[in-house]
Amino acid sequence: MYTNICKHCHTVFQSRIRTYSCKSCKRLDESHFDDIEEYLKKYPNSNALQISEELGIMAYEVLQYMQEGRLMKVHGTFSKIKD
Ligand SMILES: [Zn+2]
Repeated sequence: MYTNICKHCHTVFQSRIRTYSCKSCKRLDESHFDDIEEYLKKYPNSNALQISEELGIMAYEVLQYMQEGRLMKVHGTFSKIKD
């Protein structure tokens, strides 16, 4: 079992697989993820801060999606972030 901390409500919970969102935040999590994915289709070269500002999703959360590997399939542009 893994001990997880929900990135939305910070509830500590246990699950069989490592996850970053509790059951009650799952829908929010999916919806944010869809928003980010959609945004990246339009603006593939965006970095986490731009996504965060445009969508009102915390940069920490955007980075978390990347760490989860869920955004990798969208575009491989995150390794090229310049400021
Ligand atoms: Zn939660």
